[in-house]
Amino acid sequence: MEQINIAIDGYSACGKSSTAKIIAQRLNYVYVDTGAMYRAVTFYFINNKIDLKDEQAVKNALSNINIEFKREREQLLIYLNGVDVSQAIRQMEINQLVSEVSTITAVRRKMVQQQQLMAQKKGVVMDGRDIASVVMPDAELKFFMIADIDIRTKRRMKELNLEDRPEIFEITKANLLHRDHIDSTRADSPLVQVEGAIVIDTSHITMEEQTNQILSIVDKLNITK
Ligand code: C5P
Repeated sequence: MEQINIAIDGYSACGKSSTAKIIAQRLNYVYVDTGAMYRAVTFYFINNKIDLKDEQAVKNALSNINIEFKREREQLLIYLNGVDVSQAIRQMEINQLVSEVSTITAVRRKMVQQQQLMAQKKGVVMDGRDIASVVMPDAELKFFMIADIDIRTKRRMKELNLEDRPEIFEITKANLLHRDHIDSTRADSPLVQVEGAIVIDTSHITMEEQTNQILSIVDKLNITK
């Protein structure tokens, strides 16, 4: 079967990454978690106390950042300057700053360039916010994932092993809404649903159902080619 590129965009915590990972595994494709790349940059900026408003400092910092994905023991790990930061980039501190960092054009240019290189050979499943609109506008399949905000909040809490308490629910929900707002209103490559994208509402379906939906569309595309 001819290899294609698959773009998955959508709001935070809709299940994009988990879905993309399974799809890539089933098709034997490469999975690229672009959110992890913006998170790694944010991690570097926090650790090196980079002032986000200082353009030169941001540019200098970017030239010192090297991000790599490595597959180890069935897991996709992200390395920042040779150090595995896969766990560290999931902390709340990163969640709180990553969308601000992602509004910076210099940051986006560097990430997009790297992502486009990874997509060149085809056979890539990439998830993020600007994948169908900017990174892979020529992807053969484009999906836009949505889900109810309360369901997304519960899922994120479970993923982060957070205690199921009303105040924690509110903080987590506020963070997701805050990021959704910044991501969809920023000037540079905001989150948009492109024309032709297939919408998948994951609110009331299981992970298996959502991956099967996508895989059956991939199958149909290959049959009709
Ligand atoms: O996908 P994830 O929630 O890990 O992404 C973290 C943040 O990175 C998003 O909220 C968004 O601000 C940013 N991001 C982006 N463009 C992408 C992927 C992620 O701006 N392609």
